[in-house]
Amino acid sequence: MKTKKVFLTEDEMPRQWYNVLADIKMNPPLGPDGNPISPDMLAPVFPMNLIEQEVSTERWIDIPQEVLEVYNIWRPSPLVRAYNLERALGTPARIYFKNESVSPPGSHKPNTAVPQVYYNKVFGIKKMTTETGAGQWGSALSFACAQFGMECKVYMVRISFDQKPYRKSMMQAWGGTCVASPSTETKAGRDILEKFPDTPGSLGIAISEAIEAAISDETGKTRYSLGSVLNHVMLHQTIIGLEAKKQLAKINEYPDVIIGCAGGGSNFAGLTFPFVLDKINGRNIDIYPVEPEACPTLTRAPFVYDHGDTARYTPLLAMHSLGHAFMPPPVHAGGLRYHGMAPTVSQLASEGIITPKAVTQVDAFKAGILMARSEGIIPAPETNHALACVVQEALKAKEEGKEKVILFNFSGHGLIDLGSYDKYFSGSLQNYELSDSDLLESEKIFESFPKPQLLKSR
Ligand SMILES: *Cc1c(COP(=O)(O)O)cnc(C)c1O
Repeated sequence: MKTKKVFLTEDEMPRQWYNVLADIKMNPPLGPDGNPISPDMLAPVFPMNLIEQEVSTERWIDIPQEVLEVYNIWRPSPLVRAYNLERALGTPARIYFKNESVSPPGSHKPNTAVPQVYYNKVFGIKKMTTETGAGQWGSALSFACAQFGMECKVYMVRISFDQKPYRKSMMQAWGGTCVASPSTETKAGRDILEKFPDTPGSLGIAISEAIEAAISDETGKTRYSLGSVLNHVMLHQTIIGLEAKKQLAKINEYPDVIIGCAGGGSNFAGLTFPFVLDKINGRNIDIYPVEPEACPTLTRAPFVYDHGDTARYTPLLAMHSLGHAFMPPPVHAGGLRYHGMAPTVSQLASEGIITPKAVTQVDAFKAGILMARSEGIIPAPETNHALACVVQEALKAKEEGKEKVILFNFSGHGLIDLGSYDKYFSGSLQNYELSDSDLLESEKIFESFPKPQLLKSR
């Protein structure tokens, strides 16, 4: 029988994360005065051990034993050869995916939730606050908090809170508390509700609420946690790509094309950064982050300094941004509805080391259905965006008659997102066109901010 899945033993699981900051140049985060922030300015929001990781330029960082033990619940994750998808597409390409849907919350997100909760606990923190879009991050953080006996409070974007009630139940099962955002519990939430009582919410608003809840807790034992975007999140996610590299080496393969969907950039970074290192060192690989056309941060928005949240609590980050007040259309891939993009991913895009793509939500679901009918697993709406690009690349390989090796990240399953599949089957899932003038309008917001430098890492 042909090998379908490549496994690593638990002993073969990587013991260190890869830090891309050792190999690329970055514009620093800026404070309100326009000067680079100092690490202690972040201390009310994050524990110092994670802040140190955020700014570290060490190439390899040890994974603590306690984190490895929780990773062991589902890691190492399988690398799967998608024979049936290849057959369905009639492509000569060999398609592999890293199956991150096997974690208890069903996505890649606990790869960073677990170490973040661990470092907070070691620092003496008792309670974590966070935002969540479709609910994957809130459930991942609740899962991790349960593992380490910590309290968890989640602000969930209103539209997803209504569309995806079961993620709230998952959070509850793991002991977390979840409210719809904007809420009346924070000033940031109340201000928005006053102006826009019917708002579907956004990640930017929910982030503002969760940060406010953390820094206003008088016990000093609460900190905020972010599920994507930041350097330490990308770092933790590299376990995906490091495992994939070992697994591919076992079968003498190496990818020509690597694909991941990109919301804040973390599952994409997790799979690709260990290969970005090879690319910086001269290897020829096409690396594609894929976003929705309805939230085209990398493909249509400029590389600027902007805030990570709507109420401007975060420092200015150098990133591709649609503007911190941008309200993305209510596409079903809630995890891809973010106005910004990880500064590391943005930097790599600005240098042309990675090549962003955008697909429509209807094409994404079409590819997701093909995956479900061929490989059997029903993908998350976010993952469908990566799949739409996989399909394009596989068909291109067919046209060119090339035996390309395509690797993609199966970032999560869609079993809690079946409402969006219902919409697709009933034909009511629509695409959203954003005009250039819509985008220009929301981008005016950072005209007065400093501009990042165009840095070259190689
Ligand atoms: C959250 C999420 C994403 C998007 O977030 P990134 O930080 O860009 O990875 C993608 N896929 C799934 C399944 C998610 O839960």
